[in-house]
Amino acid sequence: MYSKKVAYFSMGSGIYNDLRTYGGGLEILAGDMEKEVMDSKGKYPITFFHILWKKGYTFQRVNEHGEVIDEEPTDNHWEKYLEDTGKKVSVKIFGVDVTVKIWKLKNGPIYYLDTDLEENKGFCNITYHLYGGAWDTPEKERIAQEIVLGVGGIRALQTLELKIDNYHYNDGHPAFAGIELISQRMKYYKKHEENMTEDECFVRAWKHVKARTAFTTHTNVPAGNESHIIDVLMEVGANVDLTYEQMEKIGGNPFNMTVASLRLSSMANGVSRIQVISAKDMWVWVKEAPNIIAITNGVHKGTWQNERVKRAYERSDVEGIYVAHEKCKAELLETITNYTGVHFKQDKILIAFARRATEYKRWTLIFRERAKFEELVQTYGVQLVFAGKAHRHDTAGKQFISEVYYLSKKYPHNIVFLEGYDIALAQQLVAGADIWLNNPRVPLEACGTSGMKAAMNGTLNLSTLDGWWREAAMDGINGWNIGTETIPSMRQDELDAKDLMRTLKYRVLPTYVMKEKWMQMMYASITTANQYTTTRMLEEYYVNLYNYLKG
Ligand SMILES: *Cc1c(COP(=O)(O)O)cnc(C)c1O
Repeated sequence: MYSKKVAYFSMGSGIYNDLRTYGGGLEILAGDMEKEVMDSKGKYPITFFHILWKKGYTFQRVNEHGEVIDEEPTDNHWEKYLEDTGKKVSVKIFGVDVTVKIWKLKNGPIYYLDTDLEENKGFCNITYHLYGGAWDTPEKERIAQEIVLGVGGIRALQTLELKIDNYHYNDGHPAFAGIELISQRMKYYKKHEENMTEDECFVRAWKHVKARTAFTTHTNVPAGNESHIIDVLMEVGANVDLTYEQMEKIGGNPFNMTVASLRLSSMANGVSRIQVISAKDMWVWVKEAPNIIAITNGVHKGTWQNERVKRAYERSDVEGIYVAHEKCKAELLETITNYTGVHFKQDKILIAFARRATEYKRWTLIFRERAKFEELVQTYGVQLVFAGKAHRHDTAGKQFISEVYYLSKKYPHNIVFLEGYDIALAQQLVAGADIWLNNPRVPLEACGTSGMKAAMNGTLNLSTLDGWWREAAMDGINGWNIGTETIPSMRQDELDAKDLMRTLKYRVLPTYVMKEKWMQMMYASITTANQYTTTRMLEEYYVNLYNYLKG
């Protein structure tokens, strides 16, 4: 039982499939953590703050021309899970008072902030769409959302009279929580310490807040590190009552949300060892940034490990694991048929590629050596299932989905794309596929937690040495590595594609027909995954992060 009470801020969380307050990995991580906190029955006293996304995250459909169409999910059943706390707070957006209603998850310490109230007129829709879609000024929409989360979140925990010692930001989005805390602390000093100058108040308040805050940085892709011109931030109201100069000291100008979060924290972590190496490089110039330590993400076993696989593993029943997996595969094949009408074969290898559609993840790498790919299809009957979404404005990402859609028409018995990647679909994919393929351009993947979910079901990882796999991989024992790294980056895609083809043909496919060997690898994979759970991650958060915070 730990004594420190932590408030964890995250744009959303993926806790239940039809509580659609999640997009991808960032939110699923928060959701898995929440489930672990609830399982632990008070061992980890963490309270969570999110936005209640009334229209969820985009559900993407591919039309008959292969175009990716953004739609609203039709099954966002938040009413089922949340109760009204009866409490509200107010934040200023464009100088207008916006009311934020506070909801609570019925069975856990998780609070959701909501502006969808009649009195808010033009601002009801701030909390409609995770990652935007309601305003024709997406940047201002995002800032408004982050004010609701950060500033609104701090005011919410105070209105709820929660006793909080420390604050933790999941990525840079909640950074304005730190601005609000500094603003409050400055008011306190001004009231109680008569001789302090404005500047002394600011410096001391900042120090005070920093000593109590931890930050998790996720992405090493520059576009993932949001920044805004300070004038725009101040127009929307993110500075609360801090001055232009004070904002600039915290986040620079443009004000970078990651830089600000680093400067507002005294402990920070990255989500895998290799990502920490890049993050340190990327932020080395940031003065007043804490050291960034590695706490590799984990996943919630109870959510992601199939029950039958779990029981067989606990009996050390290697054959039983295989049987359990075949059952999961049969279920997945049925789902594939329901979604697409395509009948995949149980006795042919099934490779899953399910992840966000964005440039560095290279959705189409496996098709790059086309003749070799055709050989795999013709000779071995290789089957591929794709799933995943692109962010609304990521045209390159959407292009990947379109390409896969066209290829699924060209190879109708071997390639399918499944729309609406979500928790429920992920559960089936990670347990039912034979191979979990991941081929990001090293070192751009942050962690890749879906690979852990696959691993704990005996679905073997085939991946470039990036994210968590770089520390978990035992090539040929619990999965396979692909790609070489000592190469000029111009040829990275070409060489990685060639190695992927070689590895499939000469290592993966021959093993697939050696049932004994395959079963041993499944067992090793599940054993490896034992270390990649939220049980371990939360323990590390307390021991290696929160433990060093004041308060
Ligand atoms: C686990 C999960 C993710 C994150 O996994 P990555 O390996 O980072 O892509 C994203 N979406 C869903 C639905 C998930 O279950």
